Amino acid sequence: MGLLLKNAEFVDPAGGTVTPLDLLIEGERIAAMAPGLPETGHQVLDLTGKYLCPGLVDMHVHFRDPGLTYKEDIATGSAAAAAGGFTSVACMPNTKPVIDTPAWIRYVYEKAEAAGTCRVLPIGAVTVGQKGAELTDFAALAEAGAIAFSDDGVPVDSAKRVRDALKAAMPLGKAVISHCEDGEMVQNYAVNEGAVSEALGLPGRPAIAEDLMVARDLMLAEETGGHIHIAHVSTAGSARLIREAKARGVHVTAETCPQYFTFTEQELLKKGTMARVNPPLRTEKDRQAILEAVLDGTLDCIVTDHAPHSAEEKARPLPEAPSGMVGLETSLAACYTALVKPGYLTVPELIRKMTAAPAAVLGIPVAAAPGDRADLMAFDPEEVWTVDPERFYSKGRNTVFGGETLTGRVKLTVLGGRIVYNTL
Ligand SMILES: [Zn+2]
Repeated sequence: MGLLLKNAEFVDPAGGTVTPLDLLIEGERIAAMAPGLPETGHQVLDLTGKYLCPGLVDMHVHFRDPGLTYKEDIATGSAAAAAGGFTSVACMPNTKPVIDTPAWIRYVYEKAEAAGTCRVLPIGAVTVGQKGAELTDFAALAEAGAIAFSDDGVPVDSAKRVRDALKAAMPLGKAVISHCEDGEMVQNYAVNEGAVSEALGLPGRPAIAEDLMVARDLMLAEETGGHIHIAHVSTAGSARLIREAKARGVHVTAETCPQYFTFTEQELLKKGTMARVNPPLRTEKDRQAILEAVLDGTLDCIVTDHAPHSAEEKARPLPEAPSGMVGLETSLAACYTALVKPGYLTVPELIRKMTAAPAAVLGIPVAAAPGDRADLMAFDPEEVWTVDPERFYSKGRNTVFGGETLTGRVKLTVLGGRIVYNTL
């Protein structure tokens, strides 16, 4: 018996097309894609009015496992991913201990396999313990399955270390993912430097702290020929630098998150610690520049930077609360609401930024044809809903999207032919 998804609007992100069809899954793979497939002998799900897409790919999540599992673990993170339509996620190594050895890479794969609801692809640390001093063994980490390298959560202060990392990653065909903030300039400050930091009487993280590190890492990628991927771009200056570098042929890819094209620093005044994130929400000028960079392809990928924290941690005063917000269960809807509904992007254009584009950075497949592994998701583009963090599968409830009304909702996620989420 197969699983037959009837009457779907199939989105092919590479071809940029939407095709009405039925899709039959047999075992782990897509067996057929055509209109009017016979139902006999199959489990049938009717997707009338829904878009059927390759499973979403999030190349930037924090699953807090090992060591910080009171915030999230690989099982709860995987469940949140499935509920958000994600079938593959890449998790950052800033855990406790840091994922900087082959044994910890294997630990992530084993726990994800046991949870069984999402492919979790570990990113190996750039430096031992993410301390910035000594490079990890890139070849050994890649051999164990590290999908990329990053010290995300903290910047790599040493330009020499980033240069060495780009050179070490290049023969392995892997990207170095850069958390671009000048550490000394941002300290542990809570907000963007500007009107809101002044209103709150707090020191701020200036946009230049991001721009400088982006400029440095682009220069290092240009000089070495290595692949730099710029994480969570939030400033107009970074977007401009990346656009110019791409025009010169630098091997750079880049990402942003829904919060940076949806909200500004003003949200801190309304939502307090829920809006505290690194890099911080910026000005309206930056928000518009990020939107423009998403639309013109400067920013290839949309990721969540899913960063769960406990309620107790986020209840602390703004200067002491940790930075970050969860995003897996709101990302598709947030993007649909901000980008597709107003007519900025078509559905295939959005889905490409959430599937094929990050998959290309990581070097993983996207399901689009018979014979491909059946990692798929379906969403209803009409459903309007209000975000209630208490209903999340994630342990984290911390999001600036709490209470927001969004359009578009994930209804079905299929991982390797198995239904892992279904609210049809
Ligand atoms: Zn980061």
